Amino acid sequence: MRISDILKTNKVTVSCEMFPPKPGKPLENTQQVVHEIAAHKPSFMSVTYGAGGSNSKNTLSIAEEVQKSGVTALAHLTCVGQDEENLRASINAFKASGIENILALRGDIPEGDTAPQTFPHASDLINAIRREGADFCIGGACYPEGHPESYNSDADIDGVRRKVESGCEFLTTQMFFDNNILYNYMFKLLRHDIRVPVIAGIMPVTNAKQIKRIMSLSSSSMPTRFKAIVDRFANNPEAMKQAGIAYATEQIIDLIANDVTHIHIYTMNRPDIAGSIMTNLSKIIDGYEAE
Ligand code: FAD
Repeated sequence: MRISDILKTNKVTVSCEMFPPKPGKPLENTQQVVHEIAAHKPSFMSVTYGAGGSNSKNTLSIAEEVQKSGVTALAHLTCVGQDEENLRASINAFKASGIENILALRGDIPEGDTAPQTFPHASDLINAIRREGADFCIGGACYPEGHPESYNSDADIDGVRRKVESGCEFLTTQMFFDNNILYNYMFKLLRHDIRVPVIAGIMPVTNAKQIKRIMSLSSSSMPTRFKAIVDRFANNPEAMKQAGIAYATEQIIDLIANDVTHIHIYTMNRPDIAGSIMTNLSKIIDGYEAE
């Protein structure tokens, strides 16, 4: 099913994210995880694309497994390391596997790599996919706190506008830990007449390692309330897991209460975390029945 159709509903949608195994690693464990997360009935499941374009085959294999589980797959695809020929091959492979949805991303350029890219930006990739005449539903990324390379908020919104003008049909946000940042951002998009559906990306932070990674990789700020949780529980794995699930659940409930009804959970191959959050939300998502 096309994600643009899934998002047409007035009901709450909750999607989950998976990452494929590294190249050369077996697929079986991750395939098993697909079915365990799919059992919690997400609206769709996205499968990330390896940094530096290293993981395309495994992205496709895991996306195929998602479709086999009966859940709609969203396959990520990045510009980094991509050329016209690779892109055509990826598009043909997606089509042959019945994948209808692509999240088109630039990807993070590996440090020290100064070679010109065939597709410098996500909007270039979207244009190229459209040029191939393939009828995919294409989404893109957006950043409520601004992409770290955007020199100001207007330049950042311009990047988003380019994607939408190229045919991006929905946007998934970078993680954020303060819902007010998302609400302000949604007003900003509207003010710039960007009206495609926005899916709010929620990261359940459940261990100390993740916190360090988030701090180093994303520009997401941590509100005082969240910092206090991390300070208190980061060294107690079970407590941090429970507190992280509770914080993410609370964020989602506040979003839904304020009419932000499309939620994406960065579940990162953790069926236990996906299951806990879905169970917490089971009476909040219309018509949802937990397993
Ligand atoms: P772009 O839209 O190209 O934007 C990058 C920067 O360039 C921004 O500052 C933008 O304002 C600016 N810009 C855009 N267009 C132009 C233009 N025409 N001229 C000048 N400047 C421009 N990475 C992976 O490697 N694999 C994944 O699977 C993956 N999944 C992700 C999923 C989500 C929901 C998000 C939010 C991020 C994901 N990322 C992933 C990370 C992403 O690749 C990086 O954040 C990357 O640095 C930017 O990607 P983008 O698609 O937003 O880039």
